[in-house]
Amino acid sequence: MKTLFEKIIDGELPAEKVYEDEKIIVIKDIAPKAPVHLLIIPKKVIPDIQTLKKEEFYLLGEIVRVAQELAKKFDLEESGYRLVVNQGPDAGQTIFHLHFHLLGGNPLGRMG
Ligand code: 5GP
Repeated sequence: MKTLFEKIIDGELPAEKVYEDEKIIVIKDIAPKAPVHLLIIPKKVIPDIQTLKKEEFYLLGEIVRVAQELAKKFDLEESGYRLVVNQGPDAGQTIFHLHFHLLGGNPLGRMG
């Protein structure tokens, strides 16, 4: 069974795409928690950060590269942003295809 993000990656469901290359797709979150709320999603089917294999760690670098690029594009370089992963039930993960949230555009409140 494909996840929602796999269906978006495969073009079977619509999404507001803001970036795409051969490894990564970035879409706007449908229920934004900040003025800018993007989902950075590797195209490779990986359920979550915990099942990411060592040979897939290069994707984390790609995700950070794309986050830097989008922070520039969405004018978040100076104001800042949060780049987070929800891993598992206690973090509230709902879609089991690895993705990073990039949030910004106003003060986000302290974490921890
Ligand atoms: P998680 O809770 O798994 O870390 O994040 C899943 C995110 O996907 C949530 O922030 C949720 O708002 C977003 N989301 C759920 N369904 C859709 C959808 O159909 N389209 C888009 N663009 N985002 C979605």
